[in-house]
Amino acid sequence: MGAVVNLTITMKQAGAGDLGYLLHKNPANLQTFPMSFGSAHVFYSEVGDERTTAVLMLDVDPIALIRKSKSGAETSGFALSQYVNDRPYCASSFLSVAIAQVFGSALAGRSRERQELADQAICLEATVSVVWSHSGPAFIESLFTPLGYEVELSGAPLDVKFPEWGESPYYKLKLKATTRLSDLLSHLYVLIPVLDNDKHYSIDKAEVEKLLRHGEGWLAAHPLKEVIVSRYLRHSRRLTRSALEQLAEEAVEGEEEEVAAGEEEKLEERISLNTLRQQAVLDALKKCGARKVIDLGCGEGKLLKILLEDKGFEHVSGMDVSSRALSRLAKRLRLDETLQPSVPGRTSRTGCTVFQGSLTYRDDRLQGYDAATCVEVIEHLDKDRLEAFARVVFAEAKPGVVVVTTPNIEYNVRFEKLPAGKLRHSDHRFEFTRQEFKDWCESIALQHGYQVSFQPIGELDDEVGAPTQMGVFTR
Ligand code: SAH
Repeated sequence: MGAVVNLTITMKQAGAGDLGYLLHKNPANLQTFPMSFGSAHVFYSEVGDERTTAVLMLDVDPIALIRKSKSGAETSGFALSQYVNDRPYCASSFLSVAIAQVFGSALAGRSRERQELADQAICLEATVSVVWSHSGPAFIESLFTPLGYEVELSGAPLDVKFPEWGESPYYKLKLKATTRLSDLLSHLYVLIPVLDNDKHYSIDKAEVEKLLRHGEGWLAAHPLKEVIVSRYLRHSRRLTRSALEQLAEEAVEGEEEEVAAGEEEKLEERISLNTLRQQAVLDALKKCGARKVIDLGCGEGKLLKILLEDKGFEHVSGMDVSSRALSRLAKRLRLDETLQPSVPGRTSRTGCTVFQGSLTYRDDRLQGYDAATCVEVIEHLDKDRLEAFARVVFAEAKPGVVVVTTPNIEYNVRFEKLPAGKLRHSDHRFEFTRQEFKDWCESIALQHGYQVSFQPIGELDDEVGAPTQMGVFTR
C-alpha cells in the first residue's frame, strides 16, 4: 500500500443509515476501485440510525504514478522530486478524481432509492485527513465558511521532534453543515484541488467545463472566486479568463431569471399551479394513449422529467429555442451521463431526444410524434408569429394530439400582488381571455382538421374563470 488520504462523510440525523443509498455504496461491503493513481476504497466506519460514516480512502502509489506519466507532466525541476514530493500524502486533485468516479451519482445529486433525501439539505460532517495551505489556516477557512460550513482545522507541527521548526502547512480539515450531499461533494470537488497548489500538470478546456459544472449555483457568488478559478486552473491565464467570463454571465442571467421566475411563481404559488398544470397535461396525454411525445418550448425540462419517469411513454423529446434553458435541462435530467450506456450501473435513457429549434420555423425533427405539448409557451411568441407557430405545429408536424396551455388574463385580477393591467411575466407578449383563446384554437382546428376541447386548470372562479386554460386538439 502507498500513502493514504482519507475523506470521511458522516450523516448525523435520524435515518442516517440511508447514507448508503445516497452514496450508492452498500455499508455492508468494502469496495475497491482501481484509479489512475493507485486505488480507492470505500467502507463505513460506523453505521447507525443517528450517525453513519462512510470513508473514501485513496491509496496513492507514487511509483505507479510516475511510470504512468509518460509525458512527464508530473515532473518538476529535479528528478528526485518525483519521488519525494508530498502529493501522495496530501489531498489533491486525486481526491476530486476519486469523488467523481466513485461517488459520481451522489455528486450529480442522483439517488435511485432516496431521491427526495438527495434533494434535501441534511446534517453532514466531512473530514479530509491532510490538506495543504501555505497561506495558513485562514485561507482554508475563507474557502469554506462563505459556503455555510463550520470549519475546524487541526494543524500538525512540521516535526514533533523539532517544535522550533514551527507549524507545518498541513492540516486535518473538518467541515460541518446542513446541506445537500451533492453540494458538499461539489464543494470538495472544486476546493480541494484549489488547496493543492501543484502547478506541474497540464490542464485543458475540459477542466473549465468541469469547474463550471461543479461550481454552478455557488462559485459565481463566492467572494474568492477569482482565486479559486485561477488556482483550480493551475494559473493558466487564458483558461482563467474564460472561466471568469462565463461565471460573470451566469451571475447576471441567474439574477434576472430568479426575479422573473420568482414573479410568476410567487403569484401563482397559492394554488401550486405548476403542479396542477403538469398533472392536467399528463392526464390529457394518457387519456389519448400517446406513446411518443414531444414537449415544445420545454424550457428547463420540468414536464420532460415527469414524462421520463412515467413508464407509459416510449419516447420523450424536448425542443426549445433557448440554449441556456437546454443546458439547464441537461443538468436537471443528467442527459450527458444517462446517455452513456457504457457506464456500469447506470441505466441509459435512450428514449429521450432534446434539441434546439424555434417553433415558428418548419422543422422536420418535429415529425413522427403521437402528441405534442406546448405548456405556457405561446404567450412568449409575438402575436404576429402565432400563425407561423400554427402552421409549423398543426400543418407540418401534424401530431395526432396537441395540448396547449396558456394563462387566462381575466384571472389576473385575483393575483393581489400583480398591478392592474400587467401581465404575469415580463417576457409574456400577450395573454388571452377565455374567449380569445377559444376563438384562436377553434380557428386553428377548423383550418387544419382538428377537434378541440377546453379545460380550465386551477381554482375555478365564478366570475373570471381559472388561472390557466388548456386546449386539447385531436385529429
Ligand atoms: N414549458 C416550460 C417552459 C415555459 S417558459 C414549462 O412549462 O416549464 C416558455 C419557454 O418557451 C421558454 O423556455 C422559451 O425559451 C421557449 N420559447 C420561446 N419562444 C420559443 C420559440 N420560438 N421556439 C421554441 N421555444 C420557445
